Amino acid sequence: VPLDLEAFCQELVEELQLTVKTPHQIGFRRQGRSRWVGLDEKLLRQFLTNLLSNAIKYSPEGGTVQFDLIFDADQVRFTIKDQGIGIPEKEQAQLFDAFYRSSNVGTISGTGLGLAIVKKCVERHQGEIAVDSEVGKGTTFIVTIPVGSELSPESLNIVGCV
Ligand code: ATP
Ligand code: MG
Repeated sequence: VPLDLEAFCQELVEELQLTVKTPHQIGFRRQGRSRWVGLDEKLLRQFLTNLLSNAIKYSPEGGTVQFDLIFDADQVRFTIKDQGIGIPEKEQAQLFDAFYRSSNVGTISGTGLGLAIVKKCVERHQGEIAVDSEVGKGTTFIVTIPVGSELSPESLNIVGCV
C-alpha cells in the first residue's frame, strides 16, 4: 500500500514530541520531490522510532536532533543526527548485534536490542544502514531504501504533494 512518506514522518515526529518526556526538540526537513512510496508502515514506524528515541536518549546534555527525509530518483534516505555522546569508532561495527551496548553509555539504561531490530526492518526493504559518529560530538544514522522499482504505474499517478 503506497504511503505518503513525508506526512507519515511529520506525524511520527509530532507524536514523539508529545509522548517522550524530554526537552529535546526534533527538527524535521524534507529534501527532494515528495512522493508516495510502497514501504511497510509498521516496519517504518519501528525503525524510525528506535533511531529517534536513541538520538534523544544518548543526548543527555540536550542538543538538537535533526531528522531529514531525502527523496532521490530511485531511493529514499533517512538521516537522524544528534549532538549526543557519540560512539567509539572501534565499536561501531558491533552496534547492530543484539544486546551490544557501547562502552561509553554510562548510566543510560537499555537492552541493546533496538538497533538489531532497526537493521532487520531496513533489510526487509532491501535497504542499508550506516553510522557516522564521533565521541563527544554526536552521531548520525543514515538509512537508504531503494524505491521506485516496486511502484506500479497506477501508484505513480497518485503521487501527491509538492
Ligand atoms: P534498547 O534496546 O532499549 O534500544 P539500547 O538503546 O542500549 O537499548 P540499541 O538501540 O540497540 O540499544 O543501541 C545499541 C547501542 O548503540 C547503545 O547501547 C549505545 O551504546 C549505542 N547507540 C545507539 N544509538 C546511539 C546514539 N544515537 N548515540 C550514541 N550511542 C548510540
Ligand atoms: Mg535503543
